Amino acid sequence: MITEPFKTYPKIKELASGYFTTLRSAAEEGKTIAWGPALIPYELLRAMDIEYVLGEPYGVMCTASGLGAELLPAAEEYGFTTRFCAYSRNFIGSYLKGRGPLGKLPQADFMIGVRADCNDHVAWFEAISKMVDRPYFAVDLPKCYKQPAERHIAYVQSQLERLVEFVEHVTKRKLEEQRLVDAVINAHQLRVLWREILECCKNVPAPLNFKNQTSFMIAAVLLKGSKEAVDTYATLLDEVKDRLQRGVASAPEEKARLLWDNIPMWYYPQTFRLLEEKGLIPIVSLYTLLWGDNPLTYSQYPQPSKDLLSWQVPTTGKETLREIAKEFIRGHIIMNSLPSKLSFYGGLARDYRIDGAIFHSNWGCKNLSLGRLDVARYLGEEFHIPIHVFESCMADPRGFNEEEFLSGLDAFARSFDV
Ligand code: SF4
Repeated sequence: MITEPFKTYPKIKELASGYFTTLRSAAEEGKTIAWGPALIPYELLRAMDIEYVLGEPYGVMCTASGLGAELLPAAEEYGFTTRFCAYSRNFIGSYLKGRGPLGKLPQADFMIGVRADCNDHVAWFEAISKMVDRPYFAVDLPKCYKQPAERHIAYVQSQLERLVEFVEHVTKRKLEEQRLVDAVINAHQLRVLWREILECCKNVPAPLNFKNQTSFMIAAVLLKGSKEAVDTYATLLDEVKDRLQRGVASAPEEKARLLWDNIPMWYYPQTFRLLEEKGLIPIVSLYTLLWGDNPLTYSQYPQPSKDLLSWQVPTTGKETLREIAKEFIRGHIIMNSLPSKLSFYGGLARDYRIDGAIFHSNWGCKNLSLGRLDVARYLGEEFHIPIHVFESCMADPRGFNEEEFLSGLDAFARSFDV
């Protein structure tokens, strides 16, 4: 199969590095900075010219730059247990050591947390707000175990209204509604583009694989709400469609199409090269799909619930906060119940025509690992495909057993007879 490098990738890298350059100089220039998990509605911050450090991407950078061995013990010596999110321990260690991938972690003026499906999210920024003595606001998301309803949207929206008041109070700035409307529309367009890009992977061969997806999603995560990001991902979609037309694959061989579950080990990037050498190509993952606008595609919820949560173009600040609230609920609904997860993974297995699945039982993010064994067994039994489950951590290399990992991959590869 023919394959070739992506022409849009340098532009995506440029966007991401522009974000980091701005962040590096932000503290010196006296700009207002917020810290929070990647879930926070930072379209709001963007609309108020507030820079932000997002905890998870920062944790990825700490790990990928090899600083984890120094940062993780610092957080643990301070008192954070190794059961706590591995990204958070990298982040907190970076603060404590005064060192990190950007040099010193740019000091925040305030923090935002989100009480979603993962308690570590909220504990992380609550704890660090006390350590650095800065104000903190947490948005609480409801658990929709059964069926999303209007009361869930209203609940989140009321908190977003309070969040705006909090940010206005801390920064002494007034939110310009139109800027928020524009940022949220841009963020939605970006999610649609990202979903369309990933859906091209239903094609055989897939024009991009999970490794490409994790490289490409960085700017989509960091620059949500920016027009420049929308334009760049529109160009990427054009390129991916062009590859489809010309039959350009993501790898020289696609002997088996895989579902990859969970976050990869950022300290062990050779994972995907090793798989590629065996012709095993992960092409779909909930982890990358979560940044698209499609979480309800495969949901078992009745149509009225889906309609209630569907996107409506906002024109006022109030409508915009309602759209953010709906987006929060859409994005987390799959995590909240096993039936939702089974329905979602079943849809992926069918539509992406997978031949096997790898489940990373990730100690570092228990949230994404929830229900993994049930989902793995369901896929194996329902679709009669080989399944491989291995244990490790996305951002803490200390417990990674390379020999065991490699022998597990070999055994899995043999089940495809490749
Ligand atoms: S455990 Fe997972 S979901 Fe929770 S804060 Fe860490 S990375 Fe995010």
